[in-house]
Parts: sequence; structure tokens; C-alpha cells
Amino acid sequence: MKYIFVTGGVISSLGKGLTAASIGTLLENRGLKVALQKFDPYLNVDPGTMSPFQHGEVYVLDDGAETDLDLGHYERFTHTKLTRLNNLTSGQVYQAVLNNERDGKYLGKTVQVIPHVTDEIQNRIKLLAETTKADVVITEIGGTTGDIEGLPFLEAIREFAQDVGPHNALFVHVTYVPFIKAAGELKTKPTQQSVAKLREIGIAPQILICRCERPLEKELRLKISMFCNVPFEAVVEEKDVDHSIYEVPLMLQRERVDDQVCRALHLDVPAPDMSPWQEIIRKLIAPQHRVRIGVVGKYIELQDAYKSVYEAISHGGIANDCGVAIEKIEAEEIEKHGADKVLAGVSGVLVPGGFGERGIEGKIQAAQFARERKLPYLGLCLGMQIATIEFGRNVLGLKGAHSTEFEPNTPHPVIAMLDSQLKVTKKGGTMRLGAQPCQLAVGTKAARLYGAFVVNERHRHRFEFNNAYREKYQKAGFVFSGLSPDGKLVEVIELADHPFFLASQFHPEFLSKPHQPHPLFRGFIGAAHQRTLHRPA
Ligand code: GLN
Repeated sequence: MKYIFVTGGVISSLGKGLTAASIGTLLENRGLKVALQKFDPYLNVDPGTMSPFQHGEVYVLDDGAETDLDLGHYERFTHTKLTRLNNLTSGQVYQAVLNNERDGKYLGKTVQVIPHVTDEIQNRIKLLAETTKADVVITEIGGTTGDIEGLPFLEAIREFAQDVGPHNALFVHVTYVPFIKAAGELKTKPTQQSVAKLREIGIAPQILICRCERPLEKELRLKISMFCNVPFEAVVEEKDVDHSIYEVPLMLQRERVDDQVCRALHLDVPAPDMSPWQEIIRKLIAPQHRVRIGVVGKYIELQDAYKSVYEAISHGGIANDCGVAIEKIEAEEIEKHGADKVLAGVSGVLVPGGFGERGIEGKIQAAQFARERKLPYLGLCLGMQIATIEFGRNVLGLKGAHSTEFEPNTPHPVIAMLDSQLKVTKKGGTMRLGAQPCQLAVGTKAARLYGAFVVNERHRHRFEFNNAYREKYQKAGFVFSGLSPDGKLVEVIELADHPFFLASQFHPEFLSKPHQPHPLFRGFIGAAHQRTLHRPA
């Protein structure tokens, strides 16, 4: 069993997760089984209780774990299926240690960060290795070297590497080489200092992935190599990508990162065949067609809040050989200026998941606009609830129809809390979470797209369609195309009299990959493309 540890230096947001995932891609394409794992030094037990403004998207796994969005990259870039074992936070580590202490498991000892906390962290690496039986476990340490809360994790991986021996563990450090405009040059000092910091705690990185906006010339590489004590070839340039994050594995391959990893870990495997990835990039860079999609949300100014949604849209583009320009629209803009104006020029409208009241009316107007103008609409979770409210108010004439999440006293609670949620008082990890089966009705668009009658999709919600209204809706052409196997929960809806108006209570975006675009996104982008062909001038 081999281990790769990926740390980050200088600043956050360097794309460490993407780098770890891309190394995973390269190794997988060399025939190795990889497992990817993220350690997050914050004290929350999971990111489920954090606002998207703090943390970006919460990525949900099949087993219902609410995890860091980097796990989304891991699933999109490799074929590994992740579970709650793949994301460890300080909160979970301390929870486990404190439970052990209360259970008397430390036999009278003083409980300390070293060894008890660090052992707990190491156990998690071993547990993942044992359960996945992977050839290589890649562990990414969140945060930046120098963070106080990251220290126990760094100490744990240092000890771990010591234990497994030199050719079984490898340290990769992702660092930043900034371009200083006034000097007109790239600067290596922050990288030198970040590596010095790591070496101070006993970790000597063997590969340095240098994030930079400009090419990393030979003299700079020599300088970094000398000051940071790594071979010249191990100073790797990872420039900002031109088109797509899916270029990163190819970029790292050009820099021979996978060769170096295999050499360092004594892995004797053939070179990877990256032609499927090259084809993905071709479709992204030079598509046959183009469409513009409006995503109407609430955390629009945040790059990371709808990560999987944006990725899944681009996969839908790949499936249709269609370049997708995503127009990110603040729902409140629609409230101010009207859907007509704000949505002019888009060929499809997507309303993603969300919580809280802000922007809800704008989203309802967006759904109305899409329904009335026969514009393709895809609703995800909250987006399905929005479609339901809109239809209730504007087609069925249910005045004041709403979700009890936003209007507890609505005369028409068309969306109401799940029965199973009524007694829930704790906020953390208590929603309806993870993969649940859904049965699709014969003859529906959903069943046609999936080419299946039973699908498993990931959930994260507390509210649902109120069955008291089912008959009324059905009679008016609101089709319940997907239900839970017991028939009680509405999972997918679509409109009979519309080219593409479809919404799901689940989150299909979590299961889409560039090489396996999700059927609903494929259908949505396909419909938007059709619309561009037939749109009246
Ligand atoms: N707020 C809604 C609910 O809890 C929708 C959740 C979501 O979009 N993920 O049901």
C-alpha cells in the first residue's frame, strides 16, 4: 500500500483538491486503484452546518455524509465511490477522542494531542486503506501550512510516513508563485518559506506543484529546486488553466508528475492512456454548438457555492457537443427588474438547491417565465419546490401557495415538512440525506432520459411535495414522473405540455462526471440547444 500526502502552502484556494484529484486520475489511468481522502482542520463535525458563504457547496455522498466540495472533484476525476470515511474533520477527531476518554478507553492516561489525537488521525488513513484495498491512498490536508489547527494533521502524516518507510509515502506540496506586477516577475520567496515551515515540523516535500499565472522559467525552477531541496524536475509548473479544470491532469502529465510519483513509490506500471480526457477537453474547447444557460440562485457571487451544478452543466454540454455559457443570476435581480429583462437571451433556466427566504420570489418568477415561454427548465431540490409553488399559484389559482419553510401560515402549503423531520430538533446531519431509490413512471421524459425505471439519487432536504395537492396538480398536467418506491414522496416532476420542464427533489449534479454526463443535464442542455435552433428571431 502506498500513500501520497498533499499539503498546501502560502494561500488557500490554490486548487489543492483539483491537484490531488488529478494525480488520482493519472494513477487510475495507469491501472492503479486509488482512494482519495480529505482532512479538514476546522472544528465543525462536517460542513453541513456551515453557510455556503463560509464554505461553498456541501457535497453529499451516497451514504448521506455531508462533505467538503473537494470530494466532488475526487468523484468527478476518478471512479472511486466515496463514503463518510473519506472526509475527516478536527471536529470528528476530537469527538472520537472525547468519547473514548468518557468510555475509559485511555486507561488512566493523560489525553493529549500527541499521541491520542494524532493516532486517531492515523487510524483514519489505515481504515480507508483497509476498507478500499486501494493501491494508492491520496490524502489531502485542508488549510495552509502554518495554520494552528492544521498542526495535528501534519504531525500525524509525518509519523505515518515514518512508519511506512521511504518508498511507501510521498509528500506533495502545492504552493504559490505570485507574479508581482511592479517587478514584472514571478517570486519564489513565499514558496521557500512555506517549504521551510514544513521542514521545521519534519516534513520534507518531494514534489512541489507551483501554482502560477505565468510560465515558470528554468532559472526560477532551479532556484526553487536549490532552496527547497527538491530535484529540478520535481519543481512542477501548474499554470492557471485556459479553459477547463479538466485540463489539470493533462498539464500534470506533461510535467511528468505521474512518472515521478511512480518512481518515488516504486510503482512499476505502464504510462497512462489519456486519450478519453483529451477528447473531453476537445469538446470543451471547440464545441460544435453553443448555448447560454441562466442559473438563478442566491449565492451567485460565490465561485464555490454551486460547484457541482456548474460542473454538471458543463458535462451536459460535453454530451451534446455544446459549449455552455453560464449566466449567473442573483434571484433578487429578477425581483427588481423582472424575468423578461434579466432572462432575455438565455436558452434554459436552472434553479439549484437552497435554503432560506431571500430571493425565493425571484426564483418563482424565473420558473413562471420558463413555463410560459416554453423555455427549458431544470429544478434541483429547492428548484422543484419552486416549480411546484409557481404552478400552484399561477396555473391552479392557489392564492398564496407556498412552502412552509418560507411561510408557515400559508393557506396552501404545497410544500411541507417531511413527516420524518417533524420531531427533529438537532441541526447537524439530520436532513433526509444520501442516496434513495426513486421509481420512474413509464412514458415520462425522466424515464426516457435515464433509460431506466429505478434510479438512485442523492438527497439533502427537509421539505417535500404535499400529497394533499397531488390530484389537483396531476389533473392540470403536472406529471409526477418519479416517486419513492412506497409512492409517498415526490422525487421528479415534469410538465406534459412543455418541451423540457423537469425538476427533481434530489441532487443529480452530485452524480455527474465529465465522462458520464448525468442524463437530466444531458437532456436539459440538449433541449436548450434545440431551443437555440428554433428560437424566433
Ligand atoms: N430548503 C429546502 C428543503 O430543505 C430545499 C433544500 C435543498 O435545496 N437542498 O427541503
